[in-house]
Amino acid sequence: MTGLKELKKAELLYHAGLLLFSIAPSLIVFLLLFSAGAGSAISLASGLVTITAFQIYGIFYEKGLSGNPLPLRLSFWTLKVLQSVHRLELHTPEKMVVIMNNRKAFFKINHEYSPGKTLILLPHCLQNHECPIRLTFNPDSCERCGKCPIGKLMDIKDRFGTNIAIASGGTSARRIVEKTRPSLIIAVACPVDLSLGILDVHPITTVGVLNEWRNGPCFDTWVDSKELEAALELFLN
Ligand code: SF4
Repeated sequence: MTGLKELKKAELLYHAGLLLFSIAPSLIVFLLLFSAGAGSAISLASGLVTITAFQIYGIFYEKGLSGNPLPLRLSFWTLKVLQSVHRLELHTPEKMVVIMNNRKAFFKINHEYSPGKTLILLPHCLQNHECPIRLTFNPDSCERCGKCPIGKLMDIKDRFGTNIAIASGGTSARRIVEKTRPSLIIAVACPVDLSLGILDVHPITTVGVLNEWRNGPCFDTWVDSKELEAALELFLN
């Protein structure tokens, strides 16, 4: 679960991204009004109103009052530009998306979600690399031997009566979502796949859980099954 410090950092980044994005449109508003003869005070005030409007729009999303993820997208892509010029650590924008999305998702815990319309979506890199079973076609063929976290996640799936699927990548994950049409997704993935997936599947409620890279990226990754269990308990009970 996200700590308070991480949450505060994500909120700060989210608003900073939106603020930076809003500079260009507010400058356009200022220049248009100024060149039309509106005067510097009115033009400046209008530019500031534009910046404020973006922040208010952002707060609406943050507080769960608007489901439209546009402010999150704008902030994310602005932060990605900063990251590309080495102003931010790797995966900082992605982690911001996951945290802000989960924060917003928890405003929906009182909605009625049924286990049958809930999907646990896992990446194939959770599976132990020596396991010979092909899980992407049939996760139920897992023998729950305990060598990787999938066995425990299968137990959780049985306990809650949800659906489970294992995706071989982003495209496969999108295909699974289109096919199963869930109303709630508990998704496990790396920061890149998880953030892009979250931004893609709107308006489906999604809770993102980052996998642990105990053996480096995309290889025998791990996830704390208790995090998934806690999320399911919150949304389904
Ligand atoms: S828990 Fe399932 S998927 Fe993981 S190694 Fe054992 S049989 Fe394979």
